Amino acid sequence: MPTLPHAIIIGAGFTGCALAHDLALRGFQVSVLERGEIASGTSGRTHGLLHSGARYCVNDLEAAIECIEENKILRKIASQCIEYNGGLFIGLNDADLEYLPKFLAGAETCQISIEQISPEKALILEPNLNPALLAAVMVPDGVFDPLRLALAFAASAAENGVRFFPHHEVQEMVFDGGGNIGGVTALNKHTGNLYEFRGDITINATGAWAGILASLAGVDVPIIPTPGVMVAYDKRLVNRVINRLAEPGDGDILLPQRRMVVIGTTSFEVEDPDYIPLDKNQINQMYACACQLVPGIAYALQRGAYVSARPLIKTKMVGRSLSRTFKCYDHKESENIEGFVTITGGKATTCRIMAEKTADLVCSKL
Ligand SMILES: Cc1cc2nc3c(=O)[nH]c(=O)nc-3n(C[C@H](O)[C@H](O)[C@H](O)COP(=O)(O)OP(=O)(O)OC[C@H]3O[C@@H](n4cnc5c(N)ncnc54)[C@H](O)[C@@H]3O)c2cc1C
Repeated sequence: MPTLPHAIIIGAGFTGCALAHDLALRGFQVSVLERGEIASGTSGRTHGLLHSGARYCVNDLEAAIECIEENKILRKIASQCIEYNGGLFIGLNDADLEYLPKFLAGAETCQISIEQISPEKALILEPNLNPALLAAVMVPDGVFDPLRLALAFAASAAENGVRFFPHHEVQEMVFDGGGNIGGVTALNKHTGNLYEFRGDITINATGAWAGILASLAGVDVPIIPTPGVMVAYDKRLVNRVINRLAEPGDGDILLPQRRMVVIGTTSFEVEDPDYIPLDKNQINQMYACACQLVPGIAYALQRGAYVSARPLIKTKMVGRSLSRTFKCYDHKESENIEGFVTITGGKATTCRIMAEKTADLVCSKL
């Protein structure tokens, strides 16, 4: 090409920042438009669990395999943002013990290296666990600092020439002749001015807002914004990620973040990811569940509760059964609109592979 191809990325969460980094390495000019600051959407308010995939290894194998593969890569390329402290799944009752063989088999299928240890050993490793635990399995979970992870990708991208436009809200698509997308119009929220950005390809990386953004282009991206609540306490009661040995449920993960522990999370659906009510009952329910894992929570001070929306892809499944995998949409294939791609779904842990697959698609199109 006589000049470098120009990619416009809408959204600067984990996905948009990782994609900017990848496309810059491949020789693109890249502009990232973000209506707030970097990581001001879901990415800045995520739990911070570097998934080993163990949480999904029984019911969502695709997501589990993506997580363990990316867990290993992120530990290499973004180690400065990650506390690689490992995790424990603990069983507290007969139902948990019934889940154990399925869990062990699922982890083997997904090639997640785990080790079953005795409850006594688990208590030596983590003395604040519920002393009545019946089973424990070590998994290669870790913890990441959400803001640092997004900023690490953004910093590499910027170093390689990517231009970030924070506080620029995309309001319209620019259609070229033939109904194809040639760029976007964005409002600079500081000046109140509207600007047109023209590119060879426009990529919608707006997470839970992907459906709203896609509708500006007249296309359908079936995203269900699925929020979850997290609650932070003022004592670092554990040094590892503590999970309940059971199918994913509410309040069944507790992880250390710096000097605190954070309980996560719930799962419910909303229409509008910009308005998510914080329900006190959910906070209380999470507290009760976490006390079963680590009773000492009862003696810690609640420091705050926060909420954000997962971008889950709509399928025939409902609620917790919705997969945590991701999808890249080429709108040329689905709606015959050239110049427009959407990447959404997934996890923070899988942002790098989401970016790689999207960049592969963009390269094949150009
Ligand atoms: C409660 C909860 C806990 C989670 N915990 C974990 C975890 O522990 N580990 C893990 O791996 N994953 C976790 N996840 C999943 C993970 O946080 C998300 O998958 C990830 O943050 C999505 O990133 P994203 O970049 O796709 O979306 P976002 O971070 O939401 O980025 C999209 C961006 O688009 C911007 N935008 C929207 N509309 C426009 C517009 N018109 N113009 C310009 N910009 C726009 C938004 O401001 C936003 O910054 C959790 C999710 C939730 C909800």
